[in-house]
Amino acid sequence: RNFSSSTSLAMPPVSKPQEKYDLVVIGGGSGAMGMSRRAASYGVKVAVIEEDGRLGGTCVNVGCVPKKLMWHAADVMESVKSAPEYGFRGVKPDAFDWKYFAEKRDAYVRKLNGIYDNNLKKDGVEYISGHAKLISKTEVEVAMLKEDGSGFGEKHVIKADKICIATGGRPTIPSDQKIEGASLGIDSDGFFALREQPKRVALIGAGYISVELAGVFNSLGSETHLLIRHDTFLRAYDPIISETLQEHMANTGLNVHKNICLEKITGEKGGPLTVYLKDEPPLEVDCVLWAIGRRPNTDNLGLEAVGVKTDDKGHIIADKYQNTNIDNIFSLGDVSGKAQLTPVAIAAGRKLANRLYGPEGVRGVDFLDYENIPTVVFSHPTSGSVGLSEAEAREKYGDENVKVYKSKFTSMYFGMLEHKEPWAFKIVCTGKEETVRGVHTVGLGSDELLQGFAVAVKMGATKKQFDDTVAIHPTSAEELVTAK
Ligand code: FAD
Ligand code: NDP
Repeated sequence: RNFSSSTSLAMPPVSKPQEKYDLVVIGGGSGAMGMSRRAASYGVKVAVIEEDGRLGGTCVNVGCVPKKLMWHAADVMESVKSAPEYGFRGVKPDAFDWKYFAEKRDAYVRKLNGIYDNNLKKDGVEYISGHAKLISKTEVEVAMLKEDGSGFGEKHVIKADKICIATGGRPTIPSDQKIEGASLGIDSDGFFALREQPKRVALIGAGYISVELAGVFNSLGSETHLLIRHDTFLRAYDPIISETLQEHMANTGLNVHKNICLEKITGEKGGPLTVYLKDEPPLEVDCVLWAIGRRPNTDNLGLEAVGVKTDDKGHIIADKYQNTNIDNIFSLGDVSGKAQLTPVAIAAGRKLANRLYGPEGVRGVDFLDYENIPTVVFSHPTSGSVGLSEAEAREKYGDENVKVYKSKFTSMYFGMLEHKEPWAFKIVCTGKEETVRGVHTVGLGSDELLQGFAVAVKMGATKKQFDDTVAIHPTSAEELVTAK
């Protein structure tokens, strides 16, 4: 964690911990907020321990929130590009003022940090600023974060009846031993620290982060290179999304380098860099950004001392009730490695609090169902997905039981423009009833429309029920209830 950047943020008052709590939650991100606030609402004495000097975790500080704001900026640029054809003849794309916007974005994030502080105060959750480490199954040692943010100081041991680990994760970068010059690149945390827009950028990785940030750079006018190991990015998604999006992004000037084998990176940190790829000419860029996945924050957490089990990637193993192998120690969110999304961490935290402390009806039984979790890639255009891909459905239900409805078209917004953007969807159904098992869309507005379709999929809607729903016209989403 970068304390030098945290110190510029509003430092909430560091409280002196009490000796004993009913529940101690380690981490101050999405999952911890969900768990601690819900538990406190049931009258439980709760403390949250966060080491970063600010609440909100990855999502608020270096994830969803600042990312979505960058996406909005890029989206405004896309609208500006369309504006003349919509009759705004004098509107011309101008250079994006990265520094101005980054400062405005960070001020908004600081405001959220303050709101999070207040929410905990209001709900009666004690916020302890420091690094937490398990020393037994009912004791946590906290090294308090110094008020100037310069490191950790005095230590306290806190007792807790129950402990929840929600310590999240952080980006990975290969070692320089593995790939020469790898450390010359930045990661997604480094992206949010950029104060100048790189003129030329290479992103390495084929998941959410690389595709989203490549879209931002590309729309805002950087020469953008996306380096992927296979033929397509977002391989975990249904091909209707990955193939449609990749083809479109390539048409908008994004340079997708497929099947790459990265040999080395040379140059100066922060300066021009040369990326050497096998069988391709060297690539001259100003910035290399790694987005090849994240690893769990379990360093110096005392897991071994207490015997908390982890998997081969270091994620804490938790069952569907968020129980670890140690009684009264629970784990949720990114550190547990399942569906690494903010609403998942929040929901898992709230459900766990319900199960442990809630009223009759939820106490003892509540848990998060990890099936049919909707997810959106904030690409340009956005794409959304809930449920099974076609391949997953075929594998699970057999080819003969799967029926797919799909279509690709140009939405009305782009119909009369020279620059076209695709809209495509796939509905995956199974059985005689044609139960809808998956909805996958890519195109303008996919992000906002998916939530409602996710409700339908979760409820087990059939294709007939989709068809019986009257369309909303003129929209792109109406195609999903009129598909033949
Ligand atoms: P975190 O939010 O990471 O919180 C964990 C906290 O624990 C951290 O603040 C950390 O400092 C603290 N901590 C760690 N170890 C200790 C310790 N020993 N003692 C005390 N404190 C400790 N998800 C979405 O749903 N939508 C999106 O659009 C989206 N965009 C993203 C964009 C980016 C660039 C990234 C990186 C992630 C994005 N995510 C998105 C994922 C989302 O941010 C995470 O799934 C979510 O933040 C996980 O919450 P968490 O509570 O498990 O962990
Ligand atoms: P992901 O795990 O999503 O994707 C990383 C991809 O990079 C891998 O799937 C792999 O794809 C490729 N890769 C892995 N190692 C290498 C390597 N050494 N060289 C080149 N490519 C490599 O990780 P991200 O970092 O993109 O995101 C982390 C998580 O954050 C996501 O899984 C998601 O849960 C969350 N997130 C959610 C967002 C949202 O909801 N909109 C946005 C951003 C993040 P392949 O095998 O095809 O090469």
